[in-house]
Amino acid sequence: TLGDKSTELESVKSKLEEYKRLADTDPLTHIWNRRAFDKEIAQIYNSNKGILFNALILVDIDRFKDINDRFGHPVGDEVLKVVARALKQSVTENEFVARYGGEEFAILFCGSSLAAARQLAEVARRAINQSPFTFQGKELRVAASAGLAELTPKDDEKSLVVRADEALYAAKRGGRNCGYWNDGQANHRLV
Ligand code: GH3
Ligand code: MG
Ligand code: MG
Repeated sequence: TLGDKSTELESVKSKLEEYKRLADTDPLTHIWNRRAFDKEIAQIYNSNKGILFNALILVDIDRFKDINDRFGHPVGDEVLKVVARALKQSVTENEFVARYGGEEFAILFCGSSLAAARQLAEVARRAINQSPFTFQGKELRVAASAGLAELTPKDDEKSLVVRADEALYAAKRGGRNCGYWNDGQANHRLV
């Protein structure tokens, strides 16, 4: 019957929605993945340009390889989950949080000012260090470095990532467990 057909169609539709969501989700941490990030940043770039203040914060776990080497890959995986949760909890609903790559996360800030973006970068970064993880009765604590860049009308999605990455590397060179922002010319320490 027609009724059966429409029920069938609804079920196909909802399956399709589920697969779409899965294609955009990181299976380990359940936050957005790189594919979702690329779509989101392209959309922000094309729609909000010059209207809202947008910034990209890249967060990379410090010396993560050591965690894997000392405790094993499965423990490293657990740490990634804890870090993803800490990041999600430190931002508002306005922010888009994704796993950008292995132990690197991206936050797309959409708000009022550079000052607010800078503050968020620091809050998110510190939340990681304040989320201890217990392994065999021992408390593990990881730190992370952050790089921030503001989206300007001159930017495209790629140049924004490049500048946030430059800031992130400045933070690594600056001793890790800190954040930097790139103003288009130079990198500056956040606090
Ligand atoms: P830095 O402070 O310079 O960022 O050092 P690092 O050790 O964090 O960086 P490096 O790039 O040398 O190592 C990153 C490590 O992350 C290497 C890789 O095996 C690990 N990694 C990437 N993805 C995963 C994952 O899904 N699970 C686990 N357990 N490890 C991962
Ligand atoms: Mg790292
Ligand atoms: Mg890395």
